[in-house]
Amino acid sequence: MRTLLWFKQDLRLDDHPALQAALSAERLLPVFVFDPQQLQIGEFGSRRLGVHRARFLLESLTALDGALRQRGSHLLVLPGAAEQLIPRLVNQFNLQQVLTLEEIAPQERAQLARVRRQLAGVPLQQAPGNNLLQAEDLPCPVEQLPQVYSQFRNLVEERLQVFQPRPAPERLPPLPDGAAALLQALPTLSQLGLGEPLSVPSSAFPFSGGEAAAQARLRDYLWNSQGVRQYKETRNGMIGSEYSSKFSPWLANGSLSARRVAAELRRHEAQFGRNDSTHWLWLELLWRDFFRWTLLRHGSALFKAGGLKATEHAPQQLDQRFAQWCQGRTGMPLVDANMRELAATGFMSSRGRQVVASYLINDLQQDWRFGAAWFEEHLIDYDPASNWGNWAYLAGVGCDPRHKRTFNALRQAREYDPDAAYVSLWLPELRHLPPHLRHTPFLLAPAQLEALNYPRLERIPETWKPYLPHAA
Ligand SMILES: Cc1cc2nc3c(=O)[nH]c(=O)nc-3n(C[C@H](O)[C@H](O)[C@H](O)COP(=O)(O)OP(=O)(O)OC[C@H]3O[C@@H](n4cnc5c(N)ncnc54)[C@H](O)[C@@H]3O)c2cc1C
Repeated sequence: MRTLLWFKQDLRLDDHPALQAALSAERLLPVFVFDPQQLQIGEFGSRRLGVHRARFLLESLTALDGALRQRGSHLLVLPGAAEQLIPRLVNQFNLQQVLTLEEIAPQERAQLARVRRQLAGVPLQQAPGNNLLQAEDLPCPVEQLPQVYSQFRNLVEERLQVFQPRPAPERLPPLPDGAAALLQALPTLSQLGLGEPLSVPSSAFPFSGGEAAAQARLRDYLWNSQGVRQYKETRNGMIGSEYSSKFSPWLANGSLSARRVAAELRRHEAQFGRNDSTHWLWLELLWRDFFRWTLLRHGSALFKAGGLKATEHAPQQLDQRFAQWCQGRTGMPLVDANMRELAATGFMSSRGRQVVASYLINDLQQDWRFGAAWFEEHLIDYDPASNWGNWAYLAGVGCDPRHKRTFNALRQAREYDPDAAYVSLWLPELRHLPPHLRHTPFLLAPAQLEALNYPRLERIPETWKPYLPHAA
């Protein structure tokens, strides 16, 4: 068969079911479509793709092309809309089928449907996507899955299977004749109008995009440094690359397969023993799957103000406090430090994400969807299910039966940044304060605060009182 292999959020050769299905093709055209629409400002005032994610994507595409070339093929990257480009290529090279992976998000599913319509009879085959579990592995139809994570986990853990991902093939079928003429250099960030991100030495994610970098990190975290064996103790950290796995950016664009991570984790446990930490990493991977099934089941409802709840609890206002939050200038140091890390590097720890999201929703009373959209533009690990699912959950409009999860930001600062090392790293203007004041600069006299050029909090919440320095 003459086949087009359409890469989307699956920029790898390892454990790639559509690629496996393409191996017997007589001719194979691997394609990635880059849609410039992603660079436009959307409904919530943010782009879908910001500079850090774009850099990571370009690195991932370069790596994929390199891996394809080593196997006798190439990656054709074209700018435009898939529903126009894919059918055009099929006609131009007289291809007989299109292979790709399944999608779970509504916009991507709608696009697949448009491509299928435009293909006018040429089959579009979808192989299982980036979930750990496939629909047929579930003990019940998707609509009947429990809405609460712990129940979901209990149900699927009983059906635990051994994942046997297929490794990358050694050779690939050749391109169709004439296709090499279409190959072109990837655009640069400047050509995309995004500018070049600075490299920031204190980044918690000092890694590159692409499958080789993902595999290297997997090897390191599970086998060399074995950071996974302390994961439960370190996972609430915020500084450096080692407090958590950092798998998420590669998982998000599919340079790394979650099934490969699970298989390697089992192999690690078989050799070195299972402990609370290795088990905890597994539970986090199940969170990822839980949000994926939630998105598949509820579709576009997850992106609405009221989320999955019939009644809308979440605040819906938007004022200058949202811009201050984005810029890392709210006057709450832990929040500001995390937001500046995000803008400078495209990464933020799990602890940080929970604190800043809760602060935007509960303390600043802003519409959570704008926060989620800001994350979408800036996070290099942006993933629709995990991002919008976690935001909706924190806003009290997700699948959790409880109303909102509220974090006391000052208490979090005292607990997770006791020496103020994290805020000192990202807020240089506070570095020269005595450590006990770095989380509470709002206690300084107005003139002192002004001299630091750090914003003043509107008011100190009552719930923070127990966490103020005793001297205050
Ligand atoms: C408001 C908010 C937004 C988020 N947005 C995203 C997002 O866009 N993309 C994303 O991948 N994660 C998101 N997360 C989840 C989580 O913060 C990140 O997955 C994690 O911090 C990534 O770092 P890591 O790979 O080192 O994670 P680790 O702690 O090492 O965990 C291992 C893996 O488990 C999965 N995982 C861990 N925690 C979660 C979780 N709460 N929800 C879903 N999966 C999880 C991820 O795939 C992660 O790579 C968000 C969390 C919050 C609170």
